[in-house]
Amino acid sequence: MTTLPSAVAEARAILDRLGVPASTLDGGTLAARSPVTGEILASLPEHTPARAAAAIDAAHGAYLAWRQVPAPRRGELVRLLGEELRAAKDDLAALVTLEAGKVISEGLGEVQEMIDICDYAVGLSRQLFGLTIASERPDHRMMETWRPLGVVGVISAFNFPVAVWSWNAALAFVCGDSVVWKPSEKTPLVALATQALFERAAARFGPDAPSGLSTLLIGGRAVGEALVDHPKVPLVSATGSTAMGRTVGPKLAARFGRALLELGGNNAAIVAPSADLDLTLRGVAFAAMGTAGQRCTTLRRLFVHDSVYDTFVDRLKSAYPSVPVGDPRAAGVLVGPLIDKAAFDAMQSALDASRAGGGRVVGGDRVEVGGPNAFYVAPALVEIDHQAEIVKAETFAPILYVMRYTELADAIAAQNDVAQGLSSSIFTLNLREAELFLSAQGSDCGIANVNIGPSGAEIGGAFGGEKETGGGREAGSDSWKAYMRRATNTVNYGTTLPLAQGVTFDV
Ligand code: NAD
Repeated sequence: MTTLPSAVAEARAILDRLGVPASTLDGGTLAARSPVTGEILASLPEHTPARAAAAIDAAHGAYLAWRQVPAPRRGELVRLLGEELRAAKDDLAALVTLEAGKVISEGLGEVQEMIDICDYAVGLSRQLFGLTIASERPDHRMMETWRPLGVVGVISAFNFPVAVWSWNAALAFVCGDSVVWKPSEKTPLVALATQALFERAAARFGPDAPSGLSTLLIGGRAVGEALVDHPKVPLVSATGSTAMGRTVGPKLAARFGRALLELGGNNAAIVAPSADLDLTLRGVAFAAMGTAGQRCTTLRRLFVHDSVYDTFVDRLKSAYPSVPVGDPRAAGVLVGPLIDKAAFDAMQSALDASRAGGGRVVGGDRVEVGGPNAFYVAPALVEIDHQAEIVKAETFAPILYVMRYTELADAIAAQNDVAQGLSSSIFTLNLREAELFLSAQGSDCGIANVNIGPSGAEIGGAFGGEKETGGGREAGSDSWKAYMRRATNTVNYGTTLPLAQGVTFDV
């Protein structure tokens, strides 16, 4: 077993620099743990549901004030937040590495994504536009306007522990909403650090930023439920497993709250006969093994055409053992740890089920790094001749199931034949195949790519997926509309009162 340097002092020093007081980090019931070493970094006090409800009431008060601040001025707060994130990028990224186990470049990438969405939202703050629509009545004008919505609840998962908050919060703030965030109980420290950075930005912005505009709720499922159940939260944006969405979605529906659900994926790629195999190898390797298979967009199923199967899969099998697994703080390491023992056990039982279903497994063993409470694995590749039940389930670990196909239509049908609908790719140089894949007869996912893997996305596009992935869309395009309410306004500037559809009602 290779031991690693302790993560505790480093995490504490970063938190101190980012403005999280040491006095808030101990004596509580929530253990903040590092998957890098398995050490406990802090023991945080948790919110009770009652305290959470009080915080949400305060956030509602903040919204009532914030909605009156002009949107471009609201954008200025988000610009300042982006500046704070730029200044703190290295520290916050290092904390993401310590608490979520991401390798250095992915930790930095996560914070860069926060900066990018802030920039995007600043521009958006001057573009929250509606339409003018032709009225059927004379001397009438009809238009739609977008108004702030209220308190936006954000529930986030461990694997994008801060970026997901920023996708929601940057947009919500410019839209005139306040935000209450319940981060993953597995990554509370990066959330505390992010909140501290927000507070720095708000202090620079001045008194127009009401207290309670951004609130953090520390705790697990019970605190999340308090957010979901609170009547003053008109929108809950919840990112996590499909199991979580299955509970949260109906609860919101029962009180007519809006749900923006970003749930599990089971993403696939097709390698067609004309694929550029060098490029495909890199695309597949990153998408399947990057982030130790712990992205919602991780490549989990690969359909390879018969004519290139042996060549390509042999190369892939040689690439797998060459990928460096280990301390994510170390330069050159590409695959860090799994988040915890439960993730390791789930991976091992999925591999056992694959073997039982006829799968031939390469990799998947534990890599002895970091001590008994850290869980590193060699990414696994499983050749299997059909989509067994285990292939159709999302196992949140680096397992790639590889299957053979002969007809593209069959590969597309197999790709779509799972409950999830997040991300998908085709590797081909054939225009007809690429266009078919993107067409109505093609991928049924929210994200469909050509000649890049399914994993990762830019903030300019709308991000999210169909079916059991939940249907929500976040980040770019017109995703901002989810954070506002639309009002249709009709103005009569004439002297008569014509009714629509020619109805008469003379009194
Ligand atoms: P998880 O479902 O265990 O937890 C996610 C969050 O939901 C946590 O904050 C948790 O406390 C909270 N939660 C759980 N049950 C709840 C309930 N009943 N009410 C309110 N809150 C509740 O997920 P995880 O293990 O942290 O993350 C991994 C999962 O997230 C994977 O399935 C992955 O695909 C998915 N994910 C999806 C996206 C996406 O954009 N589609 C992005 C990241 C992660």
